[in-house]
Amino acid sequence: MPPADGTMEDLTVVECTRCPALVDSRSRIVNGVGPRDAELVIVGEAPGEQEDRTGEPFVGRSGSVLTDALHAAGIDREDIRITNAVRCRPPDNRNPHSNELARCRDWLEAELSAIDPAVILAVGKVPASHLLDRDVAVTAEAGTVERLTLGDRRYPVVICVHPAAVLYDRSQEERLADAIETAAHHLGVSPDDRQRSLGDF
Ligand code: SF4
Repeated sequence: MPPADGTMEDLTVVECTRCPALVDSRSRIVNGVGPRDAELVIVGEAPGEQEDRTGEPFVGRSGSVLTDALHAAGIDREDIRITNAVRCRPPDNRNPHSNELARCRDWLEAELSAIDPAVILAVGKVPASHLLDRDVAVTAEAGTVERLTLGDRRYPVVICVHPAAVLYDRSQEERLADAIETAAHHLGVSPDDRQRSLGDF
């Protein structure tokens, strides 16, 4: 039953005014991108400045880090779905508040249930804690796999550091790569697949 203060059409939230502070700070709602039959869904925290401007999740420098790490694991970005725990940019890039995460949750769950992926990659502490409903120590737990139940489905959730962390601390690079490789393993993809496909050209 669609809520009175929001409308989703074909996985796109076209109108939503549930979070007054975010309605004021956003210039648009940033919906998930990627195919409806994606086997991997990446869930980030919230749109930043560039995402708010372009309308697409994970663009800019951290988006490049993510794309490169996916590529190294044999995953093409255009084959996967990328979305956020909240769809509107918080003011001054603060973390989304718990009530904002809660209000956006049914949009996220509707998207995840419709996509029905083989695996979910939660990038960063906020989305990992939100999806798993506990306080996740993302650096220590990166690469760990837990389960998320939605309806009668249970999805593996791989905990992953945020790609932005790699920009500030190169030691996080290996953690990011390991977590993405764990997700790739659930898809039956390996870096060798990437090397083979490149070798075809
Ligand atoms: S963050 Fe989500 S729930 Fe809040 S206004 Fe934006 S779309 Fe609506």
